[in-house]
Amino acid sequence: MIEVRPNPSMLAHQGSYGEYGGAYIPPVLEKQLQQLADFFDSETQKADFNAEFIQLLKNYVGRPSALFHAKNLSAHVGSKIYLKREDLNHTGSHKINNCIGQILLAKRMGAQEIIAETGAGQHGVAAATAAALLNIPCKVFMGAIDVERQALNVRRMRLLGAEVIPTELGSKTLKDAVDAALGYYIENPTSFYLLGSHVGPHPYPKMVGYFQSVIGQEARQQILEFEGRLPDSIFASVGGGSNAIGLFSGFLEDTDVTIHGAEGGGDGTYPNTAATLSFGKPTVFQGTRSYCLVDDHGEPIPSKSIAAGLDYPGISPQHAYLKDTNRAHYYPVTDQEAIDAYKLLSRLEGITTAIESAHAVALAIKLLKDKNELAIVNVSGRGDKDVEREM
Ligand SMILES: *Cc1c(COP(=O)(O)O)cnc(C)c1O
Repeated sequence: MIEVRPNPSMLAHQGSYGEYGGAYIPPVLEKQLQQLADFFDSETQKADFNAEFIQLLKNYVGRPSALFHAKNLSAHVGSKIYLKREDLNHTGSHKINNCIGQILLAKRMGAQEIIAETGAGQHGVAAATAAALLNIPCKVFMGAIDVERQALNVRRMRLLGAEVIPTELGSKTLKDAVDAALGYYIENPTSFYLLGSHVGPHPYPKMVGYFQSVIGQEARQQILEFEGRLPDSIFASVGGGSNAIGLFSGFLEDTDVTIHGAEGGGDGTYPNTAATLSFGKPTVFQGTRSYCLVDDHGEPIPSKSIAAGLDYPGISPQHAYLKDTNRAHYYPVTDQEAIDAYKLLSRLEGITTAIESAHAVALAIKLLKDKNELAIVNVSGRGDKDVEREM
């Protein structure tokens, strides 16, 4: 019996990860975020909060997600590879784990509505889904250009009852949607800001890490059940870092397990990349201190990746810490390498992953070649959204 549960050790963090993390926010938000941090700490100590979260993960999301021995891929690579199937979750990715957790918290806090921002629409759809389930109004801020580019996800969000608010600010993409959502949050303190990745000011990385840690908790039990031992290595794609920290958190104390993160490498050259840990510098960006892609003056620059979910110039502060302390290793994976892995896995296993997840698959194929290792690769999401485009 695989137990579905978050990892309580993720509650020990108090917002800093070595020199990274913290809360670099306008003074008007200090009280709101402190209240949120205190409330999260007290709720997660309560058995009934955790029980409600776990019950919805099981019966609504469909957890535990399968850990699948990919025999054809394994034979092709020359290592024994298991896939952690987050693509099988309701709505098709790991993002729903976090949305359910944060919206449960919002309801208990007495919030009047959920606000979220989204780029490609994946987080927006997960947020709108969980908001519909838990019966709370939801506003999704989205750059006007993204609203046009992601018409299908916009329709899904509206069908789910969310209000999609296009923003005409700046470059009309994700960063501007964040600014618009933050502005709304400051003016409407009874709203709850639902953040979609392992980034932003404290307590967001702590909350997101806790809710996503179910992935690693399950994977650890599953591999022990199937193989009677821990894996030699584990792999995940890294955008903001939430699916990766979800898997990694189950194995951080197991120093014999080598940890690998696959970043969106773009065309393989700086600055046409989203590989923040590989090419960035420690900087304060969007509320937290972590690595960030910057120009010669230290100013954040836009990232570039074929995968919308990896296309972010910042990164989780905990991944910055894991990199500096050498507990985890991060590599850029190019657009082309990801496309090749996306096609290969479809043919070999009948599994079409999200192009984001294909970065982790590509890295595993490269590093595990003829190594005869036992490995777990996190398949963060399904690839239906990517099929339409020419690759
Ligand atoms: C959003 C997304 C990612 C990247 O976000 P993380 O916070 O780094 O996990 C990866 N895969 C899929 C399928 C996504 O939707």
